[in-house]
Amino acid sequence: MAHLLLVEDDPEIRRALIRALSDRGHSVASAASGFAALQAAVDSRPDLIVLDLGLPDVDGRDVLRMLRSVSDVPVIVATARDGEPAVVEALDLGADDYVHKPFGAAQLDARIRAVLRRGGSAATRGPIAVGGLVLDPVTREVSIDGRAVELTPREFDLLSYLIQRPGAVVTKRELLTEVWRQPFGSADKTVDVHVSWLRRKLGEQAAAPRYLHTVRGVGVRLTAPGDED
Ligand code: CA
Repeated sequence: MAHLLLVEDDPEIRRALIRALSDRGHSVASAASGFAALQAAVDSRPDLIVLDLGLPDVDGRDVLRMLRSVSDVPVIVATARDGEPAVVEALDLGADDYVHKPFGAAQLDARIRAVLRRGGSAATRGPIAVGGLVLDPVTREVSIDGRAVELTPREFDLLSYLIQRPGAVVTKRELLTEVWRQPFGSADKTVDVHVSWLRRKLGEQAAAPRYLHTVRGVGVRLTAPGDED
């Protein structure tokens, strides 16, 4: 399962693909224009983007160009059957694969899985373990003592950030900036709320923490049980 961003301006195609890709176990965010796509790419930080090249506001190739200047997220472009020159240009701009319209969800899913399997940066990142807590950045799966833990995309991003810094106190300001991409301010309760949700899903309580330790007035620290000091 992967966290996908689907960029498609045709509402019927968009709805059908969201349903089909969700049925295949992916979580799917979507955008209907180029600018919305760039914003969503920053906000939802997908594992892979499916990008229609024919968009109403910005040419898909320009979206790809802008995306590539800030991110190496895998991209599969979708084009009309006669879009051969556009495909060549998109591949030169850094697209990882392409599909011709109309395409079936099964084909797209197979291409998504293939791109993620060979995917440059993602494939080199193996699962990260701290004690019995294991997080796989590629499949976005989390388990604790061998038991799967279901997280929302945001909870996953939060845990992912913390587990890459075991033993370090991570401030709320840093979490808001790096995980939420928001300036520090009135939204700092957001961090507290998500930490407490995450804590519950990991099966622990603030009063008796195992992995997630709140450092009062500062932030959060993730450690393996027994490594607190
Ligand atoms: Ca289109």
